[in-house]
Amino acid sequence: MKIHEFQGKELFRQAGVPVLEGIVAVTPDEAAAAYDKLGGPVAVVKSQIHAGGRGKGTVIGNPEQHGVVLVKSADEARQAAAGLLGNKLVTIQTGPEGQTVNKVFVEAGCDIARELYLGIVLDRAVAKPVLMVSTEGGMEIETVAENTPELIHKEHFDPAIGLEAFQVRKLCKKLGISGAAAKAAAKFMPAMCRFYVDYDCELAEVNPLVITGDDQMIALDAKINFDNNALYRHPKLAEYRDLAEEEPSEVRASDAGLSYVKLEGNIGCLVNGAGLAMSTMDIIKYHGGKPANFLDVGGGANEEQVTEAFRILLSDPNVKGLLVNIFGGIARCTTIAAAVIAASKTVGFEVPLVVRLEGTEVEEGRKMLSESDVEIITATDITDAAKKIVAATGV
Ligand code: ADP
Ligand code: MG
Repeated sequence: MKIHEFQGKELFRQAGVPVLEGIVAVTPDEAAAAYDKLGGPVAVVKSQIHAGGRGKGTVIGNPEQHGVVLVKSADEARQAAAGLLGNKLVTIQTGPEGQTVNKVFVEAGCDIARELYLGIVLDRAVAKPVLMVSTEGGMEIETVAENTPELIHKEHFDPAIGLEAFQVRKLCKKLGISGAAAKAAAKFMPAMCRFYVDYDCELAEVNPLVITGDDQMIALDAKINFDNNALYRHPKLAEYRDLAEEEPSEVRASDAGLSYVKLEGNIGCLVNGAGLAMSTMDIIKYHGGKPANFLDVGGGANEEQVTEAFRILLSDPNVKGLLVNIFGGIARCTTIAAAVIAASKTVGFEVPLVVRLEGTEVEEGRKMLSESDVEIITATDITDAAKKIVAATGV
């Protein structure tokens, strides 16, 4: 789960990670009032969307309007908010369609002496979280990683112990930080690492991490992804979820207990088991097609869930064909067959449908399908299924 910058900063503040004062606004007048409340002379109006690159991003139809705007009066704050709210902001992370800005965060201006980068992720190879810092703050870290990987410094830490003092000193040396700023780092870096562990994050990124003119360290940006599998341990985070930022079909799928990820292609896939779903996508690509989604209906999927899955797949206008690939282990082929028949009645299939069934109650399932009046292209195995759906979809 992703959250907004202003929400991340709220959590940072509680965790002892220094941030600046800021106020959320949903109208231009609120933004102007927020500027006055912060007291100026400089503030920044920042679009709140679940994507980075806002500073360089621009609003559709208004290339002069960037997603992060420095303002020096209440009037400028009002104008900046008016240019952002309700409009679509395109950044390198949103795709060309952009994301609608529903809120702005008006934040006190910062006296920036240096912009650094700090990020924490899980390093699966080492089975520990890793803190990464770089002098190249404010830039796309992916570009730094590609062109000058030697400028990214890493320290793994034990989640039970956190980041140790000697590790902070090592990193400060590499960043060229000493004196009061190093003292600030000795608080900031371990606090961020503790935050990452305490909230079961997948990613906690501060870019830029700023050193101010008076040697303080401040998180000027906050990008946080939580591990969905651990969300049950943090019930308070539920109120931070912003459904407006999520793909509507993915919200529907998660409500129905389905694991669904929308993709760009045109072959809708309905599969049980994440592994089989991945290999189904692979084999479609291998035979020249493009999957429209990843979908794992799960081991114990019932007829209602599978019908909803068909509805979600068919609501995607890109979908020009459907591939059902079921290996009945816990799920029975008869359940899937019944769902296919039910879906054809309630949803209706206007695109070619290839079905490959195998496993528990397969004979009964196939019989149900062949006796129904649903138009189906049957496949004998996964390769056959992929070839048939690619041919029927006509890439
Ligand atoms: P994004 O990463 O989405 O572009 P950031 O929050 O990193 O958004 O902001 C982009 C840039 O705007 C920062 O690198 C920084 O230079 C500037 N900026 C952001 N917040 C402030 C602030 N409160 N005061 C001064 N400058 C800021
Ligand atoms: Mg940033």
